[in-house]
Amino acid sequence: MRMTRTASALAGLGLAVAAALGSVAPASAAAETSTPRSVAAYEASTENAAATRAFQEAVMKAVAEKRAANPGALAVTVTYDASAAPTFRSQIASSTSIWNGAVSNVRLQEGSNADFTYREGNDPRGSYASTDGHGRGYIFLDYAQNQQYNSTRVTTHETGHVLGLPDTYSGPCSQLMSGGGPGPSCTNAQPDSAERSRVEQLWANGLAEAAAEVR
Ligand SMILES: [Zn+2]
Repeated sequence: MRMTRTASALAGLGLAVAAALGSVAPASAAAETSTPRSVAAYEASTENAAATRAFQEAVMKAVAEKRAANPGALAVTVTYDASAAPTFRSQIASSTSIWNGAVSNVRLQEGSNADFTYREGNDPRGSYASTDGHGRGYIFLDYAQNQQYNSTRVTTHETGHVLGLPDTYSGPCSQLMSGGGPGPSCTNAQPDSAERSRVEQLWANGLAEAAAEVR
């Protein structure tokens, strides 16, 4: 199935309206029936900057809570559970190694008590990062989209949302967060220097604020 930009935009708009009306539903296990509060997608979506911010804040809050419970820990580690996305095991591992090589203020690690999860399946919205606003975040990887586009780029892009980066669809292929903007021929899975700096900044400053709220 091939998603059109119009369908994607409409889906995003519907979600944005739901969020504006204050309808908050818990994230469900089935992506088809979930009504996430905010979504940042691989292709065009509305309200994606706000959605990304909400998602990153949820992850940051989860990390801050764990750090408050274990104040001796020095590294800011964000843990994930990839068990529900077995098809994308190698892409997820690549994404982790790309991000851990690109930034130093935050570290991704597979582990228990996960701050976010990866899921896979078929969804007309394509791939996206989502949160219900209560610290439950997940990355959904859509089968069809990951065949049409470079799968490592899609996975690393969605993980960029976890780290706080918004979409920049009109940007060049050298930007990771331009996502599907440059088209399926773009296979770059590395964040550029501006994207790296932004993540470093967000995790240096933002985590301190999130930790202050938790205390
Ligand atoms: Zn995106």
